[in-house]
Amino acid sequence: MYNNEKAAVLKFCRRMLARGLTRGSGGNISVRIPGKDLIAISGSGIDYEEMTEEDVVVTDMNGNIVDGCVKPSSELPMHIACYRVRPDTGAVVHTHSTYCTTIACLRRPLRNVSYMVAFAGESVECLPFYQIGSQELADNGAAALKDRNAVLLGNHGLLAVGSNIENAFAVAEEIELAAELDYRTFLAGGGVELTAEDLAPLVQSFKTYVK
Ligand code: 13P
Ligand code: ZN
Repeated sequence: MYNNEKAAVLKFCRRMLARGLTRGSGGNISVRIPGKDLIAISGSGIDYEEMTEEDVVVTDMNGNIVDGCVKPSSELPMHIACYRVRPDTGAVVHTHSTYCTTIACLRRPLRNVSYMVAFAGESVECLPFYQIGSQELADNGAAALKDRNAVLLGNHGLLAVGSNIENAFAVAEEIELAAELDYRTFLAGGGVELTAEDLAPLVQSFKTYVK
């Protein structure tokens, strides 16, 4: 059951590892199951190199397991909260990518030095630290995505959403590049920040950029 969605979660979990957006079993991915109030989400604590479709769990929007034998990701409440706050969300990607997490440990928003920030919207903010897997993290993470596609989770990583898995993954990947460019330009002595006017047309065009 739900083999397409399980396969999609597995494929992008592997891609998250292959593209250097996480290590070991860090981060997690879910997709909405079309036409149903269900999601498919990666299992908890499973090394992505070892993960199979059996390690993807289907739950309802209250966190009840509908299909699957392993423990769902500990960040299930955060994923569910994102789908609730953003009904247009088709997938959620949470990474521990190095540069996003570096800036999240500095506990500051991204500086808008690269245009890739526009994949998230007008800015990428940084939340305080909330306990891993907590409802507090879920509520605050999702609330920050009301009018943005990505947010830094303080001292933790990145949370990104998209209309589908390709989109959500592209947001996570582009924001990691934006974080790297922020970090590198900062070390090189600065970097010129884009204005809200510079970013506004990009924010619009990125809404349909990734198919
Ligand atoms: P899971 O392995 O439970 O998905 O947790 C990883 C993680 O990123 C916690 O924030
Ligand atoms: Zn995490």
